[in-house]
Amino acid sequence: MNDEIFDKYCEAGRIAAAILTNGAREIREGGSYLELVKSIESRVINEGAELAFPLNVSLNEDAAHDTASPGDERIFKRGDVVKLDLGVQIDGYIADTATTVDLGNNSLLLQASEAALASAIRMVKPGVSAGEIGAVIQGEIESRGYRPIANLTGHGLDQYELHRTPTIPNVGNMGGTILEEGMTFAIEPFATTGSGHVGEKMRREIYSQISNKPVRIPSARTIIGTIKDRNGLPFARHWLQDRKLDLALQTLVKSGMLHVYPVLTDIPGSLVSQHEHTIIVTEDGCVVTTQVR
Ligand code: MN
Ligand code: MN
Repeated sequence: MNDEIFDKYCEAGRIAAAILTNGAREIREGGSYLELVKSIESRVINEGAELAFPLNVSLNEDAAHDTASPGDERIFKRGDVVKLDLGVQIDGYIADTATTVDLGNNSLLLQASEAALASAIRMVKPGVSAGEIGAVIQGEIESRGYRPIANLTGHGLDQYELHRTPTIPNVGNMGGTILEEGMTFAIEPFATTGSGHVGEKMRREIYSQISNKPVRIPSARTIIGTIKDRNGLPFARHWLQDRKLDLALQTLVKSGMLHVYPVLTDIPGSLVSQHEHTIIVTEDGCVVTTQVR
């Protein structure tokens, strides 16, 4: 990795860390979900950066991939466990970071994912395997009486690429990628009071373009025109305006042009916490790009 790319990763990380930290402080009982999402997303643009993906705000048993719908009327309630997951990119170089806000009495649950992330980061250096990191994450979470979510993982990052090797599991696996200097990836432990496995909900707010084909329906063509400068990175339904938005999105998913990210959820009534940082492996350890400095 050359210095210019390293600097872009670090600058994206600095912006993401500051905005996520301040945004998390603003969540309170009675606050508007939609206003929070719009406010945090606009701060990224105001910093001269771009969103790597829509701000994910996932509540309670929902682990990931929820965000505001157009006209979303939800408000934060007492007892909510709110995951905020922010992606910032500069010229496609991505910072992916998440934290959890507790509006109830769930500090031990939050500590579990936070401690797991801290212990995982302390292990990172060339020669360590992804499986060893997963084992440490699992140990930190289970020793506190919770379960790690086994089917969500950390992931490698590259220019305009959100998910590539290495995969960093949240449970102990044999083997996995051996870390090398220059690898850039997110580590994201999830701790849950539920089953430790997420499934898909019907709720769908986030999409990405995965191929290009001729489109006949005008509203579908408008959507593709609007999102083509995303370079394949995810976008949200609430970023678009069209009278026939949902029909157009459905058509584009069916034709194989769009990928859809349904909300991922553990069992009803469970609570999930998440903490995430983006790191770059160095000669003898790592740099955490998304730590507040
Ligand atoms: Mn994330
Ligand atoms: Mn991630």
